[in-house]
Amino acid sequence: MIYDYLVVRFGEITLKGKNKKQFVVKLENDVRDKLRKFASLEIKRHFDDLEIKLNNETADDVLAVLKKVFGIQNIWPAIKVGTDIEDIREGVLRIANQEKSAETFKIAARRKDKRYPIHGSELNQDLGGTVLEHCDWLHVDVHDPDLRIRVDVGYHETHIYGKEVQGAGGLPVGASGKVMLLLSGGIDSPVAAYLVAKRGAIVEAVHFQSPPYTSDRAKQKVIDLAKKLREFGGKFVLHLVPFTEAQVAIRDAVPEDYRITIMRRLMFRIAEEQAARRGALALATGESLGQVASQTLESMNTINAVTNLPILRPLITMDKIDIAKIAKEIDTYEISIRPYEDCCTIFLPKAPRTRPDRNHAARFEQKLDVDALVREAVDGIETIVIDEDAQEDALSQLL
Ligand code: ATP
Ligand code: MG
Repeated sequence: MIYDYLVVRFGEITLKGKNKKQFVVKLENDVRDKLRKFASLEIKRHFDDLEIKLNNETADDVLAVLKKVFGIQNIWPAIKVGTDIEDIREGVLRIANQEKSAETFKIAARRKDKRYPIHGSELNQDLGGTVLEHCDWLHVDVHDPDLRIRVDVGYHETHIYGKEVQGAGGLPVGASGKVMLLLSGGIDSPVAAYLVAKRGAIVEAVHFQSPPYTSDRAKQKVIDLAKKLREFGGKFVLHLVPFTEAQVAIRDAVPEDYRITIMRRLMFRIAEEQAARRGALALATGESLGQVASQTLESMNTINAVTNLPILRPLITMDKIDIAKIAKEIDTYEISIRPYEDCCTIFLPKAPRTRPDRNHAARFEQKLDVDALVREAVDGIETIVIDEDAQEDALSQLL
Protein backbone atom coordinates (compact mmCIF):
# COMPACT_ATOMS: atom_id res chain seq x y z
CA MET A 1 0.00 0.00 0.00
CA ILE A 2 1.49 3.28 -0.97
CA TYR A 3 -0.16 5.90 1.26
CA ASP A 4 0.29 5.99 5.03
CA TYR A 5 -2.36 8.50 5.91
CA LEU A 6 -4.90 11.03 4.64
CA VAL A 7 -5.11 14.68 5.57
CA VAL A 8 -8.68 16.01 5.55
CA ARG A 9 -9.06 19.78 5.10
CA PHE A 10 -12.21 21.54 6.15
CA GLY A 11 -14.01 23.84 3.78
CA GLU A 12 -15.97 26.94 4.44
CA ILE A 13 -16.14 26.25 8.13
CA THR A 14 -12.64 27.60 8.56
CA LEU A 15 -14.08 31.02 7.69
CA LYS A 16 -16.66 30.99 10.43
CA GLY A 17 -14.56 32.01 13.38
CA LYS A 18 -16.88 31.67 16.30
CA ASN A 19 -18.66 28.50 15.23
CA LYS A 20 -15.54 26.90 14.00
CA LYS A 21 -14.81 24.67 16.95
CA GLN A 22 -18.33 23.32 17.02
CA PHE A 23 -18.32 22.60 13.29
CA VAL A 24 -14.95 20.92 13.40
CA VAL A 25 -16.08 18.65 16.21
CA LYS A 26 -19.27 17.89 14.27
CA LEU A 27 -17.29 17.09 11.17
CA GLU A 28 -14.93 14.89 13.12
CA ASN A 29 -17.89 12.97 14.49
CA ASP A 30 -19.37 12.60 11.00
CA VAL A 31 -16.08 11.31 9.69
CA ARG A 32 -15.71 8.85 12.57
CA ASP A 33 -19.25 7.69 12.09
CA LYS A 34 -18.96 7.18 8.35
CA LEU A 35 -15.63 5.38 8.72
CA ARG A 36 -16.86 3.10 11.50
CA LYS A 37 -16.61 0.02 9.33
CA PHE A 38 -12.85 0.50 8.93
CA ALA A 39 -11.82 -0.80 12.32
CA SER A 40 -8.10 -0.13 12.25
CA LEU A 41 -8.11 3.54 11.18
CA GLU A 42 -6.70 6.09 13.62
CA ILE A 43 -8.20 9.57 13.44
CA LYS A 44 -6.58 12.61 15.01
CA ARG A 45 -7.95 16.15 14.99
CA HIS A 46 -5.54 19.05 14.59
CA PHE A 47 -6.27 22.76 14.57
CA ASP A 48 -7.48 22.88 10.98
CA ASP A 49 -7.33 19.37 9.64
CA LEU A 50 -7.96 15.75 10.48
CA GLU A 51 -5.26 13.18 10.09
CA ILE A 52 -6.41 9.65 9.29
CA LYS A 53 -3.78 6.96 9.64
CA LEU A 54 -4.34 4.01 7.33
CA ASN A 55 -3.37 0.72 8.83
CA ASN A 56 -4.97 -2.16 6.97
CA GLU A 57 -7.19 -0.04 4.74
CA THR A 58 -6.43 1.20 1.26
CA ALA A 59 -6.59 4.93 0.58
CA ASP A 60 -9.13 4.40 -2.24
CA ASP A 61 -11.67 2.64 -0.03
CA VAL A 62 -11.49 5.34 2.62
CA LEU A 63 -11.53 8.16 0.06
CA ALA A 64 -14.71 6.81 -1.53
CA VAL A 65 -16.47 7.32 1.81
CA LEU A 66 -14.87 10.66 2.66
CA LYS A 67 -15.89 12.16 -0.68
CA LYS A 68 -19.50 12.02 0.50
CA VAL A 69 -19.00 13.84 3.80
CA PHE A 70 -20.23 17.43 3.64
CA GLY A 71 -17.88 20.01 5.15
CA ILE A 72 -14.74 18.45 3.69
CA GLN A 73 -13.06 20.65 1.10
CA ASN A 74 -10.27 18.36 0.03
CA ILE A 75 -8.25 15.36 1.05
CA TRP A 76 -4.54 14.80 0.62
CA PRO A 77 -3.22 11.25 0.55
CA ALA A 78 0.23 11.33 2.12
CA ILE A 79 3.20 9.31 3.19
CA LYS A 80 5.68 9.80 5.99
CA VAL A 81 9.37 9.02 5.59
CA GLY A 82 12.58 10.00 7.35
CA THR A 83 14.64 13.08 6.50
CA ASP A 84 17.39 11.28 4.63
CA ILE A 85 17.41 12.43 1.00
CA GLU A 86 17.39 8.83 -0.24
CA ASP A 87 14.20 8.14 1.72
CA ILE A 88 12.61 11.30 0.40
CA ARG A 89 13.47 10.40 -3.19
CA GLU A 90 12.02 6.95 -2.73
CA GLY A 91 8.83 8.44 -1.22
CA VAL A 92 8.37 10.88 -4.08
CA LEU A 93 8.82 8.07 -6.60
CA ARG A 94 6.26 5.95 -4.81
CA ILE A 95 3.70 8.69 -5.37
CA ALA A 96 4.74 9.48 -8.95
CA ASN A 97 4.47 5.79 -9.87
CA GLN A 98 1.00 5.67 -8.42
CA GLU A 99 -0.35 8.50 -10.58
CA LYS A 100 -0.11 6.89 -13.99
CA SER A 101 -2.81 9.12 -15.49
CA ALA A 102 -0.84 12.33 -14.89
CA GLU A 103 1.27 13.69 -17.74
CA THR A 104 2.84 16.67 -16.03
CA PHE A 105 4.10 17.23 -12.51
CA LYS A 106 5.71 19.69 -10.19
CA ILE A 107 7.58 19.24 -6.93
CA ALA A 108 6.83 21.80 -4.21
CA ALA A 109 9.38 21.17 -1.47
CA ARG A 110 9.93 23.09 1.79
CA ARG A 111 12.17 22.55 4.74
CA LYS A 112 10.85 23.47 8.12
CA ASP A 113 14.24 22.96 9.71
CA LYS A 114 16.46 25.66 8.28
CA ARG A 115 19.50 23.66 9.35
CA TYR A 116 18.57 20.96 6.88
CA PRO A 117 21.49 20.92 4.45
CA ILE A 118 19.52 20.99 1.20
CA HIS A 119 17.58 24.20 0.41
CA GLY A 120 14.04 24.21 -0.97
CA SER A 121 15.00 25.00 -4.54
CA GLU A 122 17.74 22.39 -4.55
CA LEU A 123 15.28 19.87 -3.19
CA ASN A 124 12.89 20.69 -6.02
CA GLN A 125 15.62 20.13 -8.55
CA ASP A 126 16.90 16.97 -6.98
CA LEU A 127 13.48 15.37 -6.56
CA GLY A 128 12.22 16.61 -9.94
CA GLY A 129 15.29 15.06 -11.56
CA THR A 130 14.66 11.78 -9.78
CA VAL A 131 11.09 11.65 -11.10
CA LEU A 132 12.15 12.51 -14.66
CA GLU A 133 14.76 9.81 -14.57
CA HIS A 134 12.41 7.05 -13.41
CA CYS A 135 8.99 8.01 -14.79
CA ASP A 136 9.30 8.57 -18.50
CA TRP A 137 5.59 9.46 -18.96
CA LEU A 138 5.92 12.57 -16.78
CA HIS A 139 7.07 16.07 -17.80
CA VAL A 140 7.58 19.15 -15.70
CA ASP A 141 4.93 21.87 -15.72
CA VAL A 142 5.44 24.41 -12.96
CA HIS A 143 2.31 26.44 -13.75
CA ASP A 144 -0.54 23.95 -14.09
CA PRO A 145 0.69 20.44 -13.35
CA ASP A 146 -1.61 17.39 -13.34
CA LEU A 147 0.25 16.18 -10.27
CA ARG A 148 1.70 18.44 -7.61
CA ILE A 149 3.82 16.56 -5.12
CA ARG A 150 4.27 18.55 -1.94
CA VAL A 151 7.23 17.72 0.23
CA ASP A 152 7.52 19.08 3.80
CA VAL A 153 10.81 18.24 5.42
CA GLY A 154 10.41 18.51 9.19
CA TYR A 155 12.81 18.05 12.06
CA HIS A 156 12.48 14.30 12.33
CA GLU A 157 10.31 13.24 9.47
CA THR A 158 9.17 14.23 6.00
CA HIS A 159 5.58 14.41 4.84
CA ILE A 160 4.97 13.88 1.14
CA TYR A 161 1.52 14.63 -0.28
CA GLY A 162 0.06 13.10 -3.43
CA LYS A 163 -2.72 14.32 -5.68
CA GLU A 164 -5.38 16.38 -3.97
CA VAL A 165 -8.85 14.80 -3.96
CA GLN A 166 -11.89 17.10 -4.07
CA GLY A 167 -14.31 16.74 -1.16
CA ALA A 168 -18.05 17.37 -1.29
CA GLY A 169 -17.74 20.91 0.15
CA GLY A 170 -20.63 22.52 2.03
CA LEU A 171 -21.24 22.39 5.76
CA PRO A 172 -21.37 19.42 8.13
CA VAL A 173 -24.84 17.92 8.31
CA GLY A 174 -26.81 19.22 11.27
CA ALA A 175 -25.03 22.57 11.38
CA SER A 176 -28.14 24.26 9.95
CA GLY A 177 -31.11 22.57 11.63
CA LYS A 178 -33.79 20.40 10.08
CA VAL A 179 -35.75 20.73 6.82
CA MET A 180 -38.80 18.75 5.67
CA LEU A 181 -38.42 18.03 1.96
CA LEU A 182 -41.18 16.94 -0.40
CA LEU A 183 -39.60 13.95 -2.09
CA SER A 184 -41.22 12.58 -5.23
CA GLY A 185 -39.84 9.78 -7.33
CA GLY A 186 -38.71 12.28 -9.97
CA ILE A 187 -35.31 13.59 -10.95
CA ASP A 188 -35.53 16.97 -9.26
CA SER A 189 -36.44 16.53 -5.62
CA PRO A 190 -33.58 14.08 -4.78
CA VAL A 191 -31.18 16.68 -6.17
CA ALA A 192 -32.87 19.33 -4.01
CA ALA A 193 -32.42 17.03 -0.99
CA TYR A 194 -28.72 16.70 -1.76
CA LEU A 195 -28.23 20.46 -2.12
CA VAL A 196 -30.09 21.30 1.07
CA ALA A 197 -28.15 18.64 3.01
CA LYS A 198 -24.96 20.06 1.55
CA ARG A 199 -25.71 23.36 3.27
CA GLY A 200 -25.66 21.57 6.59
CA ALA A 201 -29.35 20.77 7.10
CA ILE A 202 -30.72 17.48 8.34
CA VAL A 203 -33.18 16.52 5.64
CA GLU A 204 -36.25 14.45 6.39
CA ALA A 205 -38.71 13.74 3.61
CA VAL A 206 -42.42 13.35 3.10
CA HIS A 207 -43.54 11.29 0.15
CA PHE A 208 -47.17 11.24 -0.94
CA GLN A 209 -48.51 7.96 -2.23
CA SER A 210 -51.93 6.95 -3.40
CA PRO A 211 -52.34 3.21 -3.26
CA PRO A 212 -53.80 1.32 -5.06
CA TYR A 213 -53.30 3.87 -7.85
CA THR A 214 -49.61 4.00 -7.07
CA SER A 215 -47.78 0.70 -6.86
CA ASP A 216 -45.39 -0.92 -4.41
CA ARG A 217 -42.69 -0.42 -6.99
CA ALA A 218 -43.26 3.34 -6.84
CA LYS A 219 -42.82 3.12 -3.07
CA GLN A 220 -39.68 1.02 -3.47
CA LYS A 221 -38.32 3.62 -5.88
CA VAL A 222 -38.58 6.32 -3.24
CA ILE A 223 -37.00 4.07 -0.63
CA ASP A 224 -34.13 3.43 -3.03
CA LEU A 225 -33.70 7.17 -3.56
CA ALA A 226 -33.68 7.69 0.19
CA LYS A 227 -30.97 5.05 0.51
CA LYS A 228 -28.79 6.97 -1.92
CA LEU A 229 -29.41 10.23 -0.07
CA ARG A 230 -28.52 8.52 3.19
CA GLU A 231 -24.97 8.11 1.94
CA PHE A 232 -24.55 11.88 2.28
CA GLY A 233 -26.47 12.79 5.38
CA GLY A 234 -26.16 9.72 7.58
CA LYS A 235 -29.50 8.17 8.48
CA PHE A 236 -32.48 9.29 6.42
CA VAL A 237 -35.99 9.57 7.79
CA LEU A 238 -38.75 9.09 5.23
CA HIS A 239 -42.42 9.73 5.99
CA LEU A 240 -44.85 7.95 3.68
CA VAL A 241 -48.10 9.88 3.54
CA PRO A 242 -51.36 8.16 2.54
CA PHE A 243 -52.81 10.55 -0.02
CA THR A 244 -55.51 8.53 -1.81
CA GLU A 245 -58.41 9.88 0.17
CA ALA A 246 -57.38 13.48 -0.39
CA GLN A 247 -56.92 12.92 -4.09
CA VAL A 248 -60.27 11.22 -4.47
CA ALA A 249 -61.92 14.08 -2.58
CA ILE A 250 -60.21 16.61 -4.84
CA ARG A 251 -61.26 14.70 -7.96
CA ASP A 252 -64.86 14.70 -6.79
CA ALA A 253 -65.07 18.33 -5.67
CA VAL A 254 -62.64 20.46 -7.67
CA PRO A 255 -62.82 21.51 -11.33
CA GLU A 256 -60.26 19.71 -13.38
CA ASP A 257 -58.00 22.63 -14.12
CA TYR A 258 -57.55 23.47 -10.42
CA ARG A 259 -56.83 19.96 -9.21
CA ILE A 260 -53.04 20.23 -9.28
CA THR A 261 -53.14 23.53 -7.47
CA ILE A 262 -55.38 22.24 -4.71
CA MET A 263 -53.47 19.00 -4.46
CA ARG A 264 -50.25 20.93 -3.94
CA ARG A 265 -51.82 23.19 -1.36
CA LEU A 266 -52.81 20.07 0.56
CA MET A 267 -49.31 18.65 0.20
CA PHE A 268 -47.83 21.80 1.70
CA ARG A 269 -50.29 21.82 4.59
CA ILE A 270 -49.54 18.19 5.38
CA ALA A 271 -45.78 18.76 5.07
CA GLU A 272 -46.06 21.79 7.35
CA GLU A 273 -47.90 19.77 9.98
CA GLN A 274 -45.33 16.98 9.79
CA ALA A 275 -42.52 19.56 9.96
CA ALA A 276 -44.00 20.87 13.19
CA ARG A 277 -44.19 17.38 14.64
CA ARG A 278 -40.60 16.65 13.72
CA GLY A 279 -39.06 20.00 14.61
CA ALA A 280 -38.28 21.13 11.05
CA LEU A 281 -38.24 24.89 10.48
CA ALA A 282 -38.58 24.96 6.70
CA LEU A 283 -39.95 22.96 3.77
CA ALA A 284 -38.04 22.21 0.57
CA THR A 285 -39.07 21.12 -2.92
CA GLY A 286 -37.48 20.28 -6.25
CA GLU A 287 -39.34 23.03 -8.11
CA SER A 288 -37.68 24.92 -10.93
CA LEU A 289 -39.22 28.10 -12.27
CA GLY A 290 -41.43 27.54 -15.30
CA GLN A 291 -40.56 23.87 -15.67
CA VAL A 292 -44.18 22.70 -15.60
CA ALA A 293 -47.63 24.23 -15.08
CA SER A 294 -47.47 24.07 -11.30
CA GLN A 295 -44.13 25.87 -11.21
CA THR A 296 -45.07 29.24 -12.64
CA LEU A 297 -44.88 32.25 -10.35
CA GLU A 298 -48.68 32.39 -10.22
CA SER A 299 -48.82 28.75 -9.15
CA MET A 300 -46.15 29.16 -6.55
CA ASN A 301 -47.87 32.23 -5.23
CA THR A 302 -51.18 30.40 -4.91
CA ILE A 303 -49.66 27.25 -3.45
CA ASN A 304 -47.42 29.09 -0.99
CA ALA A 305 -50.36 30.97 0.47
CA VAL A 306 -51.27 28.02 2.69
CA THR A 307 -48.07 27.99 4.73
CA ASN A 308 -45.97 30.43 6.68
CA LEU A 309 -42.88 28.25 6.68
CA PRO A 310 -39.95 29.26 4.51
CA ILE A 311 -39.85 27.05 1.42
CA LEU A 312 -36.39 26.25 0.14
CA ARG A 313 -36.26 25.71 -3.61
CA PRO A 314 -32.62 25.09 -4.37
CA LEU A 315 -33.31 24.26 -8.04
CA ILE A 316 -35.47 27.28 -8.73
CA THR A 317 -33.15 28.88 -11.30
CA MET A 318 -31.59 25.73 -12.68
CA ASP A 319 -32.15 24.20 -16.11
CA LYS A 320 -33.26 20.59 -16.33
CA ILE A 321 -30.01 19.61 -17.98
CA ASP A 322 -27.94 20.91 -15.06
CA ILE A 323 -30.25 19.24 -12.56
CA ALA A 324 -29.90 15.94 -14.41
CA LYS A 325 -26.14 16.31 -14.32
CA ILE A 326 -26.11 16.54 -10.53
CA ALA A 327 -28.58 13.63 -10.34
CA LYS A 328 -26.07 11.55 -12.29
CA GLU A 329 -23.21 12.62 -10.06
CA ILE A 330 -25.05 11.64 -6.90
CA ASP A 331 -26.29 8.45 -8.54
CA THR A 332 -30.02 9.07 -8.18
CA TYR A 333 -30.73 9.57 -11.89
CA GLU A 334 -31.08 5.90 -12.85
CA ILE A 335 -33.52 5.33 -10.00
CA SER A 336 -35.53 8.46 -10.84
CA ILE A 337 -36.13 7.43 -14.45
CA ARG A 338 -37.80 4.14 -13.48
CA PRO A 339 -41.23 4.49 -15.02
CA TYR A 340 -43.70 3.97 -12.14
CA GLU A 341 -46.69 6.22 -11.64
CA ASP A 342 -46.41 9.02 -9.11
CA CYS A 343 -49.47 10.15 -7.18
CA CYS A 344 -49.30 13.44 -9.06
CA THR A 345 -50.13 11.79 -12.33
CA ILE A 346 -53.40 10.22 -11.27
CA PHE A 347 -56.74 11.96 -11.73
CA LEU A 348 -54.98 14.93 -13.22
CA PRO A 349 -56.02 17.02 -16.17
CA LYS A 350 -54.29 17.19 -19.49
CA ALA A 351 -54.48 20.96 -19.35
CA PRO A 352 -53.85 22.25 -15.83
CA ARG A 353 -54.23 25.94 -15.16
CA THR A 354 -50.87 27.65 -15.46
CA ARG A 355 -51.99 30.88 -13.75
CA PRO A 356 -54.19 29.82 -10.85
CA ASP A 357 -55.60 32.44 -8.55
CA ARG A 358 -55.41 32.29 -4.73
CA ASN A 359 -58.97 33.34 -4.18
CA HIS A 360 -60.39 30.83 -6.61
CA ALA A 361 -58.32 28.12 -5.02
CA ALA A 362 -59.57 29.04 -1.57
CA ARG A 363 -63.15 29.00 -2.83
CA PHE A 364 -62.85 25.54 -4.36
CA GLU A 365 -61.38 24.30 -1.11
CA GLN A 366 -64.54 25.23 0.74
CA LYS A 367 -66.09 22.16 -0.81
CA LEU A 368 -63.51 20.01 0.97
CA ASP A 369 -62.96 19.29 4.63
CA VAL A 370 -59.37 20.41 4.38
CA ASP A 371 -58.55 20.12 8.08
CA ALA A 372 -59.86 16.57 8.29
CA LEU A 373 -58.01 15.52 5.15
CA VAL A 374 -54.76 16.96 6.50
CA ARG A 375 -55.22 15.39 9.92
CA GLU A 376 -56.05 11.96 8.54
CA ALA A 377 -53.11 12.02 6.19
CA VAL A 378 -50.68 13.06 8.92
CA ASP A 379 -52.08 10.51 11.35
CA GLY A 380 -51.68 7.80 8.73
CA ILE A 381 -48.02 8.49 8.06
CA GLU A 382 -45.70 5.50 8.05
CA THR A 383 -42.18 6.50 8.99
CA ILE A 384 -39.20 4.57 7.74
CA VAL A 385 -35.69 5.13 9.09
CA ILE A 386 -33.02 4.25 6.62
CA ASP A 387 -29.62 3.90 8.07
CA GLU A 388 -26.48 2.19 7.07
CA ASP A 389 -27.06 -1.03 8.88
CA ALA A 390 -30.73 -1.33 8.00
CA GLN A 391 -31.59 -4.54 6.20
CA GLU A 392 -34.05 -4.56 3.36
CA ASP A 393 -36.69 -6.50 5.33
CA ALA A 394 -36.06 -4.70 8.60
CA LEU A 395 -36.34 -1.24 7.09
CA SER A 396 -39.79 -0.46 8.25
CA GLN A 397 -39.26 0.73 11.75
CA LEU A 398 -41.98 2.92 13.14
CA LEU A 399 -40.63 5.76 15.24
P1 ATP B 1 -39.57 15.95 -9.36
O1 ATP B 1 -38.63 15.54 -10.43
O2 ATP B 1 -38.90 16.32 -8.09
O3 ATP B 1 -40.70 14.97 -9.19
P2 ATP B 1 -41.13 17.45 -11.16
O4 ATP B 1 -40.36 18.17 -12.16
O5 ATP B 1 -41.74 16.15 -11.54
O6 ATP B 1 -40.23 17.28 -9.86
P3 ATP B 1 -43.63 18.20 -9.99
O7 ATP B 1 -44.18 16.84 -10.20
O8 ATP B 1 -44.41 19.39 -10.39
O9 ATP B 1 -42.23 18.43 -10.66
O10 ATP B 1 -43.28 18.34 -8.46
C1 ATP B 1 -42.73 19.51 -7.93
C2 ATP B 1 -42.24 19.23 -6.54
O11 ATP B 1 -43.31 18.80 -5.70
C3 ATP B 1 -41.26 18.08 -6.50
O12 ATP B 1 -39.95 18.49 -6.79
C4 ATP B 1 -41.41 17.60 -5.09
O13 ATP B 1 -40.67 18.43 -4.21
C5 ATP B 1 -42.89 17.79 -4.84
N1 ATP B 1 -43.62 16.53 -5.12
C6 ATP B 1 -44.21 16.15 -6.26
N2 ATP B 1 -44.77 14.93 -6.14
C7 ATP B 1 -44.55 14.52 -4.89
C8 ATP B 1 -44.87 13.33 -4.12
N3 ATP B 1 -45.55 12.32 -4.64
N4 ATP B 1 -44.44 13.28 -2.85
C9 ATP B 1 -43.75 14.30 -2.30
N5 ATP B 1 -43.42 15.41 -2.96
C10 ATP B 1 -43.82 15.53 -4.24
MG1 MG C 1 -42.53 14.75 -10.28
